[in-house]
Amino acid sequence: MKQSILIAALAATLLAGPVVAQQSPAQTIVALRDKALTDPVSWDLLESLTTEIGPRPAGSPAQMRARDWGLAKLRALGFQNVHAEEFPVTSWERGVEFAEVTTPFPQKLALLGLGGSISTPPGGIEAEIVVFKAYADLLAAPAGSLTGKIAVVTQKMVRAQDGSGYGAINAARRAGASEAARRGAVAYLVRSLSTDDTRLPHAGAMNYTAGVAKIPAAAISTPDADLLDNMVRRGKPVKVKLVLNSISRDNAPAWNVVGEIPGTKPDEIILVGGHLDSWDAGTGAIDDGAGIAITTAAAHLAGQPNKPRRTIRVVMFGAEEMDYSGAAYSAAHKAENIVLISESDNGGDNIWSVRLPPGGREVFAPLASVFAPLKINIAADVAVGGGDDIRPLITATGAPSFNFRQDASRYFDLHHSADDTLDKVDPKQLNQNVAAWAALLYLAANSDQSFRKAP
Ligand SMILES: [Zn+2]
Repeated sequence: MKQSILIAALAATLLAGPVVAQQSPAQTIVALRDKALTDPVSWDLLESLTTEIGPRPAGSPAQMRARDWGLAKLRALGFQNVHAEEFPVTSWERGVEFAEVTTPFPQKLALLGLGGSISTPPGGIEAEIVVFKAYADLLAAPAGSLTGKIAVVTQKMVRAQDGSGYGAINAARRAGASEAARRGAVAYLVRSLSTDDTRLPHAGAMNYTAGVAKIPAAAISTPDADLLDNMVRRGKPVKVKLVLNSISRDNAPAWNVVGEIPGTKPDEIILVGGHLDSWDAGTGAIDDGAGIAITTAAAHLAGQPNKPRRTIRVVMFGAEEMDYSGAAYSAAHKAENIVLISESDNGGDNIWSVRLPPGGREVFAPLASVFAPLKINIAADVAVGGGDDIRPLITATGAPSFNFRQDASRYFDLHHSADDTLDKVDPKQLNQNVAAWAALLYLAANSDQSFRKAP
């Protein structure tokens, strides 16, 4: 009897050890999720970046400080191979800007020049406006119909949980100036790509079409777009005076900042990140300090306490807004074995769905129950592509991606405006993101599975 009790006790002891050491991936990611929900790292990073660096456009002195900030934070968190990779950009720095209606109802307008826009001549441009309530109406206007005019597009952006309203109107900001210039316009104004109703304009990048005259371009606040609609409706010619100044420099330096948690199979790389550059009006909290904070904090958690099999690499991309960092990163890294990739660049609000990569989906089976309390569903459709910084690398390498889909309902109230500030970020929602990213990263980094589509 005594002997059998002893044997039972011994057996129990022997069993207890291995059970703890061989915690299943499902159990590990439950613990990881719960730790992430109160982990201070993401908020501390975001608070530090917005407070100590603030706005940080690519090629600006502030971005150099942001680079040093990123290097120091990654090192302090224990990342390895921490370094910055320099690449050239054409920088764009805002100068004095001003706009007003001069006749028939004189009053000032709130605007921000679009990134990449040329300056107005000294003394500005004053001309009659032609308002298009839809971008398609501008595209339908005949050649020569805007000669000597300022073209204005006042189409409203639609609010949507998935942020799809932005893509639907993006061309009006990106390409509107050249479309207006083709038809003879001397300047271009676009209603801010925003769902808010404040008088803060929302910046953003634009591009000139080769072979078309370059004209100055700016975004007006959403109430000012309504105001111009109302003035024009009265039937008299409305004139606007516009002054835009900026300085642009070719071959300005920018940096992608990198840190790794090397795996036992170091050449298999899981690449995650956000972008470190931001627009200049706010402090770049939701765009994209949040993405930097989420992915750095999640990688930090997923790489502990044991070394993962695969390397988890965090990249803080240096020039997303003017669309340079993705191409630079791809050119330098397309020969590497990127086994999985994703970028966080939709603010800090809750994730509501995830699209998994096309292959190896069984690896992620434990996520369904782990994500349920976070109110994240596993989408039936597979991930396609990713953010601007990783798309060129995906195109070049075919690297499989995953897409966390965040609630973007209020993202475009703040995006690219002076209101993109720390107070708009909810620490609880930020950590919901960290929990989801950490759980997924842990499973992927401790697996041998390929996530590519089976041939
Ligand atoms: Zn962004």
